[in-house]
Amino acid sequence: MKGGVDMQFTVTAKIQVMVSPEQRQLLDVTLGTYRKACNFVANYVYQTHDLQQFSLNKALYYRLREEYGLKSQMAQSVFKTVIARYKTILENQHEWIKPNFSKPQYDLVWNRDYSLNDAKFSVNTLSGRAKLPYFIRGMEKYFNGSYSFGTAKLVKKHGKYFLHIPMTTDIPESLDSDICNVVGVDRGINFVVATYDSKHKSGFVSGKKIKQKRAKYKQLRKELQQRQTPSARRRLKAIGQRENRWMQDVNHCVSKALVESNPKHTLFVLEDLSGVRSATEKVRRKDRYVSVSWSFYDIEQKLKYKAALNESSVIKVNPRYTSQTCPICGHTEKSNRDKHKHIFCCKACGYTSNDDRIGAMNLYRMGINYLVDSQVPDTVASQHI
Ligand SMILES: [Zn+2]
Repeated sequence: MKGGVDMQFTVTAKIQVMVSPEQRQLLDVTLGTYRKACNFVANYVYQTHDLQQFSLNKALYYRLREEYGLKSQMAQSVFKTVIARYKTILENQHEWIKPNFSKPQYDLVWNRDYSLNDAKFSVNTLSGRAKLPYFIRGMEKYFNGSYSFGTAKLVKKHGKYFLHIPMTTDIPESLDSDICNVVGVDRGINFVVATYDSKHKSGFVSGKKIKQKRAKYKQLRKELQQRQTPSARRRLKAIGQRENRWMQDVNHCVSKALVESNPKHTLFVLEDLSGVRSATEKVRRKDRYVSVSWSFYDIEQKLKYKAALNESSVIKVNPRYTSQTCPICGHTEKSNRDKHKHIFCCKACGYTSNDDRIGAMNLYRMGINYLVDSQVPDTVASQHI
C-alpha cells in the first residue's frame, strides 16, 4: 500500500480481425503450419528435455525452415511458445508431459511479428507481411500512449480470427495519506453488496433478481443433467458458460457503480475470503452454489482493477466475527445477532440495527483502524460512526 510504487495493470484486449478470402487462406496456412511446427518441436523437447532456445535453434532451425517453410522470426516464436508451454506443465504437474497443440494459433511478439495502429493489424505470415483491418470499437483508449502491447495470440474460432493482446499500463498506487473516504463492502447473497461509508451512509445492491435468475439456471441444469444425451451435455456446458458471462457482467456493473459513486482516494474494505470455507460459510446452506465463492472472488478482482484506475485502493481484512461484532462498541457475541429476525442488538451497549448493514459497518470500522494503525494524519481517522 505504501510508498506510491507504480503498479502495472494488464488487460487482455480481444479484437476480431477482418479478412478477405485470399487473406483467410494465407492465415489458415500460417496458423496451421505454426501449429504443426509447435508439435514437431514439442516432440523433440519431449525426447531431449532440452528447453534452451539457443540449442533448440541449433538443432531444429534448419528443419523448421526447410520442411515447414518458417522464416527465422516465426521459428524463434515457435521455440518460445513450446518452451513456455513445457515450463507451465512442469510447474503445475511436475513431470514431462507432451503438450498437444491442437488448435490453430500463432504467438506474436510486438513490433517483430505484429504491429497495430488505429486502422490496421500487420502480421508476419508465411508469404510476407499481411495488413488486415480489424474492429476498432472499444480499442481507441489503448492508443493514447500509456499502454504497452505484449505478446499477442492470433487464434481462429468458429471460422473467425481473433487477436488477444495483453495491454499493460502503469497506475500510480494511491497513498494511504491521500485517502479521504472509507467504504466497507460486504459481499453476500441477499445483497450482492452492502456498503457503509465515511458519510455514515449505507448502500445496498439487492441480490433478489440474481437469486431468482440463478434458481432458474439451477432448475434448467437439473433437468438437463437428468438427460444423459450428448446434446443435453452440450446444452449444459453452454448454459454454464452463459451463466458465468452473465454473472461477470453483473459484477462488472456493481464494481463500476461502487467506484463511480465514490470520490478518488477511496479505501474499499473487503473481507478476506481467500479460504473457500469462509466464503461458503457466509452463505446459507440452500444458497450454496459452487459459483458463489467464484463470484465473490470475481467481484473483488474487478473492484481492485477499477479502484486502481480511479486512484483508490482495496484492502482485505480478517472476516472473523464481522457479523457478530457491535460496530459501535466492539462487543463480540454470537447472540448479538438474531438471524431469523434479521436484527442485530448489542448485548453490551444496546445498539440495534437491521443485520444486513452490520458486516459493512464493521468492515468500515476495520478500515478506519487500518488507517489509524498506519498513522495517517487525523482528518479521516478521527471520524467515528
Ligand atoms: Zn455495542
